[in-house]
Amino acid sequence: MARRHIPKVGIVSLGCPKALVDSERILTKLRAEGYEISGSYAGADVVIVNTCGFLDSARDESLAAIGEAVAENGRVIVTGCLGKDEAAIRGAHPKVLAVTGPQQYEAVVGAVHQAVPPLHDPFLDLVPPQGIRLTPRHYAYLKISEGCNNACSFCIIPALRGRLASRPAGDILREAERLAAAGVRELLVISQDTSAYGLDAGYAESEWRGAPVRARMADLCRALGELGVWVRLHYVYPYPHVDEILPLMAEGRLVPYLDIPFQHASPRVLKAMRRPAHQEKTLERIRAWRRVCPDLAIRSTFIVGFPGETEEDFEFLLDWLEEAQLDRVGCFRYEDVRGAASNALPDQVEDEEKQVRWERLMEVQQRVSEARMQAKVGRVLPAIVDEVDEEGAIARSQADAPEIDGNVFIEGAVDLVPGDLVAVRIEHAEEYDLWGRLDPSGTERPADPPASAAARKLTSGA
Ligand code: SF4
Repeated sequence: MARRHIPKVGIVSLGCPKALVDSERILTKLRAEGYEISGSYAGADVVIVNTCGFLDSARDESLAAIGEAVAENGRVIVTGCLGKDEAAIRGAHPKVLAVTGPQQYEAVVGAVHQAVPPLHDPFLDLVPPQGIRLTPRHYAYLKISEGCNNACSFCIIPALRGRLASRPAGDILREAERLAAAGVRELLVISQDTSAYGLDAGYAESEWRGAPVRARMADLCRALGELGVWVRLHYVYPYPHVDEILPLMAEGRLVPYLDIPFQHASPRVLKAMRRPAHQEKTLERIRAWRRVCPDLAIRSTFIVGFPGETEEDFEFLLDWLEEAQLDRVGCFRYEDVRGAASNALPDQVEDEEKQVRWERLMEVQQRVSEARMQAKVGRVLPAIVDEVDEEGAIARSQADAPEIDGNVFIEGAVDLVPGDLVAVRIEHAEEYDLWGRLDPSGTERPADPPASAAARKLTSGA
């Protein structure tokens, strides 16, 4: 009997971790229907391009990625944030088969069915219990909500992704449990606004392990902290209720790390940005958090050159950074985003001035970060191994999120495997990275998870 052709799908996933989670969901669904994942354009019957449309530069990158997929494969389905602008996509690439917006999983899957019908085989069980993941198997993103109820003037995410829609706590916890059982050692909690989790649902209760659990940030974190894996929180705003999370970090239930996109410190600029939870007491709050959990690492991002930002506002930000002593900082020069309210604000800052401010901010923060990194020399820190090569292991401390923060290089530790949890005596520090040796106080190796099918990206975004 002739062997049936198994339909194969390629995916190009651009944009933020939230988009990556969307790609994983689409692949999991397709895999369950018998599709295979192709790592090359040539091997794919159809290619999905999951786009980002936030900044103009991301739009250009997305349009270029669509063009490459059309040229290399010819059968292309576009989804993701840029999918909202179907006219722009069809204008640039009239040959695309279908265009859908963000989170329209069913529509993407429907478009794939149209392009390459699925094989019907009820005995196919190709999906590992944790679904298809595009991250290495020892860490995974856990999306707790979609959309956002805020109205930051520089942002079009609420227009692209809609209002806050939180997942039931029980569903999130079951997904987290499945991931942990499949060998994941670190969960990265993501959303647009993690501290707003459950607000839209009235903090509704759902069931987990036979007991009710509320859709509330602290309750969810406490439950996640019972799974015995690292739990790291991203996109948190400094609301008072975040204070409840710090004791969980001090007790070792959550990784002592907060990713808080402050964006600025000057009250005037924050007001023009319409940022949530902006108040003058943020520095006090950070100090109080550090009293509860001295090892707390804070990562943040800032925008310089926002319309109306004066030299005085900017100096306020520099002073604030000296006081706040943040561990990791990313800085962007303000850019208009198509459709954002801030485009119409008066007193736009010249590009040259933006560049000067960017350099001044990075200089101040570099000093702060270096001093904080040097203070780690001589300490024994827990670390998770990401890669091992012939020279040793590349790991991360609890202060380092994958892909955005630094590394801990462990010389000579060639017998480790990705996912190992180790103790490292730190011997040397530089601006972003640490170097050290394994400490006899312990290595913990993950149990072997069930075999999982590897999904690969053809290309990867930021
Ligand atoms: S909090 Fe502000 S910047 Fe973040 S997604 Fe919501 S509107 Fe955009």
